[in-house]
Amino acid sequence: MRVLIVGGGIAGLAAAIGLARVGAQVTVMEQAGQFGEVGAGLSVWPNALRALDELGVGEQVRARARVARRPVIRDVSGRALSTTDLAETERLFGPLLIIHRAELLDVLVGALPAPVTLRRGVVVKAVQSDGSVAHSAGTTGADLVVGADGINSTVRTGLWRQARRPRYLGYSTYRMLTDPTDIDEDGEMWGRGLRFGWAPLPDGRVYCFAVVNTPAGQVPQALSQVAERFSGWHAPVPQLLRAVPPEVVLHHDLYELPPLSTYVSGRVGLIGDAAHGMAPNLGQGAGQGIEDAVTLAAVLNAAPSIPAALAAYDRQRRTRTQSVARRSRLIGVIAQLQSAPVVAVRDAVMRCTPDRAVFRSLKPVLSWQPPSGTGRWRNGGV
Ligand SMILES: Cc1cc2nc3c(=O)[nH]c(=O)nc-3n(C[C@H](O)[C@H](O)[C@H](O)COP(=O)(O)OP(=O)(O)OC[C@H]3O[C@@H](n4cnc5c(N)ncnc54)[C@H](O)[C@@H]3O)c2cc1C
Repeated sequence: MRVLIVGGGIAGLAAAIGLARVGAQVTVMEQAGQFGEVGAGLSVWPNALRALDELGVGEQVRARARVARRPVIRDVSGRALSTTDLAETERLFGPLLIIHRAELLDVLVGALPAPVTLRRGVVVKAVQSDGSVAHSAGTTGADLVVGADGINSTVRTGLWRQARRPRYLGYSTYRMLTDPTDIDEDGEMWGRGLRFGWAPLPDGRVYCFAVVNTPAGQVPQALSQVAERFSGWHAPVPQLLRAVPPEVVLHHDLYELPPLSTYVSGRVGLIGDAAHGMAPNLGQGAGQGIEDAVTLAAVLNAAPSIPAALAAYDRQRRTRTQSVARRSRLIGVIAQLQSAPVVAVRDAVMRCTPDRAVFRSLKPVLSWQPPSGTGRWRNGGV
């Protein structure tokens, strides 16, 4: 079976590993000559780690990541609003890891089995549902095309004509890495239309993000202007901002993809952000893409035909990913509230909400298990 994967991001690379392990001849076409987004961290929740274990790379990810410690959400004066009991989460589901994005990509590229062809610098222009792909280096036919080309997917735009365009969430984010510091706790602070989060990486640097309510398409502010908006905030926010070299700041307006009615068209399937680009508030976007990759490989391993496998993939993934996306959007709505009286009520309700309730709400997301068919891979696949 010839599989062409459009996009060599986290979802595309994970799919390449999974599909090669079940015996497919895999080519990945990635438009970029090298990876971007190097200035950011990524949370890997237990469900994502379970999917990485299925791909055989979980141990390498653990070795390059740090286990998050009891993250607390505070108000801007430092008063606790909510705590996630990570000891309990870890006992039941496994650890929450924080890894540098470049490290995860490096692990995935390093784990590509030898027969996978990774073609960098090739731009896919159009895909037909019969599996033919027009790209900057010619045309290629495949038995299965996997659209893993991100939230602004060319594959989806060409074939899912009825699909709505990604919509702006109303806030944008600045992501940055500090120079090494002695901070070793994870945390978030919520203000009015402003949020700041931080998570130390294994090398002592701290991954930070600032989320700011703003109209779409504004010229990004310089780090000094961003820092000014957080200047009166409780420690460690001002200290962290002072430790960030200005050249490592990434700015992105945040979008989500309105739910699709199917992830499949003929011989083409969508995975990752191309299928369900979501708000980042739960730290689950990449994790869901890795789950997609594992599921796609498992159904192809088990089903009698590609259409049957894709139908099974759509059944197993659409409801789950769209439900995770809804939860993530809702957290953003609450976290980015701006009016002072409404924020006062939010903070009061959060202080009264038992940590147990927060934990319960995470359970359906974290308890995902890989499809049973994948057990066969460990014996070398088909
Ligand atoms: C601020 C922020 C914080 C986040 N934090 C987390 C987190 O902590 N944990 C988590 O799990 N997720 C997080 N996410 C979400 C996560 O980053 C995404 O869900 C994930 O990177 C999507 O991976 P992907 O491979 O589907 O898409 P992408 O990463 O967008 O990769 C798509 C790839 O396709 C390539 N491509 C696009 N078009 C073409 C074409 N026409 N031809 C060839 N190649 C093409 C692109 O160059 C790119 O390499 C966050 C997102 C944001 C914005």
